[in-house]
Amino acid sequence: MKNTTLLLILSLIVNSLFSQSKGKPIIDMHQHARFKVWLDGDGNPYPRMCFPVPCKSEPAKATEDEDILRIALEEMEKYNIVKAVVSDENLDDVYRWKASAPEKFIAGCGFFSIQAADSIIFRQELEKGKIGVMGEIGVQYDGMAPNNKELEPYFSLAEEFDVPVLIHCEGIGGGDHRFNLLAGNPLLIQEVLVRHPTMRIYIENAAWPFLEEVTSLMYRYPNVYVDFSTIVWLAPEETVYKYLKGLMDNGLGKRIMYGSDQMEWPESIGIGIERILKADFLSEEQKRDIFYNNAARFLRLSDEEIKRHREE
Ligand SMILES: [Zn+2]
Repeated sequence: MKNTTLLLILSLIVNSLFSQSKGKPIIDMHQHARFKVWLDGDGNPYPRMCFPVPCKSEPAKATEDEDILRIALEEMEKYNIVKAVVSDENLDDVYRWKASAPEKFIAGCGFFSIQAADSIIFRQELEKGKIGVMGEIGVQYDGMAPNNKELEPYFSLAEEFDVPVLIHCEGIGGGDHRFNLLAGNPLLIQEVLVRHPTMRIYIENAAWPFLEEVTSLMYRYPNVYVDFSTIVWLAPEETVYKYLKGLMDNGLGKRIMYGSDQMEWPESIGIGIERILKADFLSEEQKRDIFYNNAARFLRLSDEEIKRHREE
């Protein structure tokens, strides 16, 4: 093929991708700042996680450490992701990730055990305006329930500084034996909401598979939203759609937000988006709500910023 013909085809492809995503911004409510490829015992990158085991996991796209952020940024460009929450335990890593696209990323202070949290440091960073989300709070990995009193200082800080909380409270998670399924019942969050009535909180994976419980929590507390994240790319398609349809049928379509939960597999950003795009039980408007409108409302983005995103 002649070079000019090839160039023409390439530019047509790029233009069509651009026109597909133009005016359709996406907010990713859940990324992790990871800079190291996760290696197995033989020194090979861990394949992309899948559930339930046994299942066919795909090889990781990032094979070198520097691939992770690079591919994540490429995915964000490709899908017109205009904002993304990024968190992790190491705040330096979070800030490093944010520095790659400061206008897009919102930094979160994550912790997966109570020992890794530091309310003094978090307060300092909140005062400086460097943190926009409390979490991901992932203490369920360490066996702790969301209503444990030791978490109080962190919910209080979120309420005081009016930043949203992202919490891992659900029936799915990796890690060792300390991960506590019983601590994943979202009804346990009620006690926290009673103590912090103005707190905005969003629950990872819409608290899968606790559909009834999360529905009841969301009917009672309008400041509870959910992200539809990891489950989208690691569980079987039927499981994903059944749960998403359950949330939609319960009338919660204005409170679901997209999240990739990108960890060491940045390709998950696009895989999750494509799965939601393919869901034929969702209208175009419902997809726009999940991808952008609900998060824009939850994050209280200004009218000017929303207008700017819609023009991108
Ligand atoms: Zn996460």
